[in-house]
Amino acid sequence: MREFAERTLVPIITRDMERLIYTLCGIKKPRRILEIGTAIGYSAICYGFAAPEAEITTIEVRERSVYKARANIEEAGLKDRINVIHGKAEEILPDIEGYFDIIFIDAAKGQYRKFFDLCEKNMTHDTLIISDNVLYKGMPCDDSFIDERRNKTISRRMKDYLSFLSEDPRFETSLLAIGDGVALSYFK
Ligand code: SAH
Ligand code: MG
Repeated sequence: MREFAERTLVPIITRDMERLIYTLCGIKKPRRILEIGTAIGYSAICYGFAAPEAEITTIEVRERSVYKARANIEEAGLKDRINVIHGKAEEILPDIEGYFDIIFIDAAKGQYRKFFDLCEKNMTHDTLIISDNVLYKGMPCDDSFIDERRNKTISRRMKDYLSFLSEDPRFETSLLAIGDGVALSYFK
């Protein structure tokens, strides 16, 4: 899968991020996981193996990716525990019910705050929120890394999102330089 992703430029989690997921799931032993941004199912499968007791709900907007993800999940033998929902996260999230032990945010990089707000109703005082790619190739830290106009907006939004996560007193956040940057937040 990793080779396919590299060939087709699907931005899946890095190897070190994968290790982090195993470590966090090993400690937390999650039973319900919500993922925003499935792509071809790589990270969902990773959570599936890392958290053998978890039911995983994952949302993906691209139809072709949904098919690919479902096929990969079936091949991994995780069809019964991973549910791939096709649609825009902003439209699907309002209908998602119940609390999750882990919420993994890894879809459109400029919309993390919106995704976060939409799943706040699914967080409890035990929820770990993992936001991937928050350093966005360094752009939120240093404007000279910004290559395209579009990325300027994404970079600004990501910066705002990181400020929100670190300043809102309801959350405890730490930022790790793993993969493309990951924020671990805990709903206190
Ligand atoms: N989590 C995956 C990678 C996800 S890449 C892994 O590590 O294996 C980001 C994915 O989010 C892409 O497949 C993209 O199609 C999807 N996406 C982007 N915007 C979205 C939205 N608004 N709702 C749902 N999915 C979205
Ligand atoms: Mg990612």
